[in-house]
Amino acid sequence: MLDVHAYAAPSATAPLEPTTITRRDVGPREVLIEIQYAGICHSDIHTARGEWGPVTYPIVVGHEIAGVVAEVGSDVDKHTVGDRVGVGCMVDSCRECDSCRNGLEQYCLNGNIGTYGGVGRDGEPTAGGYSTHIVVDQDFVLRIPEGIELDVAAPLLCAGVTLYSPLNHWNAGPGKKVAIIGLGGLGHMGVKIAHAMGAEVTVLSQSLKKQEDGLRLGADHYFATSDPDTFEQLAGRFDLIVNTVSANLDLDAYMGLLAVDGTLVEVGAPEHPMSVKAFSLLPGRRSLSGSSIGGIPETQEMLDFCAQHGLGAEVEVISADKINEAWDRVVASDVRYRFVIDTSTLG
Ligand SMILES: [Zn+2]
Ligand SMILES: [Zn+2]
Repeated sequence: MLDVHAYAAPSATAPLEPTTITRRDVGPREVLIEIQYAGICHSDIHTARGEWGPVTYPIVVGHEIAGVVAEVGSDVDKHTVGDRVGVGCMVDSCRECDSCRNGLEQYCLNGNIGTYGGVGRDGEPTAGGYSTHIVVDQDFVLRIPEGIELDVAAPLLCAGVTLYSPLNHWNAGPGKKVAIIGLGGLGHMGVKIAHAMGAEVTVLSQSLKKQEDGLRLGADHYFATSDPDTFEQLAGRFDLIVNTVSANLDLDAYMGLLAVDGTLVEVGAPEHPMSVKAFSLLPGRRSLSGSSIGGIPETQEMLDFCAQHGLGAEVEVISADKINEAWDRVVASDVRYRFVIDTSTLG
């Protein structure tokens, strides 16, 4: 067993504080990773604050993990000591259901095991990336190709694949008009990836405040949704709209922006149920769908794609003593575009 430095939330309301947690011994098919960077995802905050259901405290969150293999078990054949690797939102799944067999572990019919807030196969609660080391089954460890620095790679493990998966599934590419709602941690990756796939990319943001950034990151167009003219001007335009905003939007208005057979995909999780009129779907055979992260094969594909296209997240690297401040800024949407913790500062 290994005692490692971490930052934990002691309760739903108290600030995070430095602590020590124990990582299990490396099993035959497991890998010990020395974490170098951990991205801060809004899900970390929702979870730690008990907004997505009850949690056991203290909790160590973090599911955008990038680091280096420090030790491998005797039967490990996919990774070697010194490899640059990452871990995302899952550390295991049943591996037997149809979803798992199809590389869709995120949709495991028996429930995948979350990187934090879950219960591992050893019966112990899982603890995430706000720590210096983690032990993970080799099958849930991704290779981070040379060509992406580890700090900008970390957010790809959640934010990156959350956008890559729907863009890939609904065939974003040349000739396709794609809109991304919201230019935050998720949205900025959507713009970069959809642009690299060859799609015509439009950002739909509340205001034009980040327009310059959006165009620099690869958007072809940028519209303010606070302007009612936007909805008239763009009516029937998009093949695919990916909504990264967790607030409840007027979905009927956005459905009206879809072309025939267009799809609007939810990747955020608004607090309240969503409502949509049948007459927003019927004309134009429009679809409303949802998408959750990506499977392990697709996550690897995404990392390889990002390396090939020189894509990483736009990050602000922080030391551990700035985590609480960073959380407040994430809640206030005051980050361009992802905080990443330098885990060497954890203790
Ligand atoms: Zn996340
Ligand atoms: Zn399964």
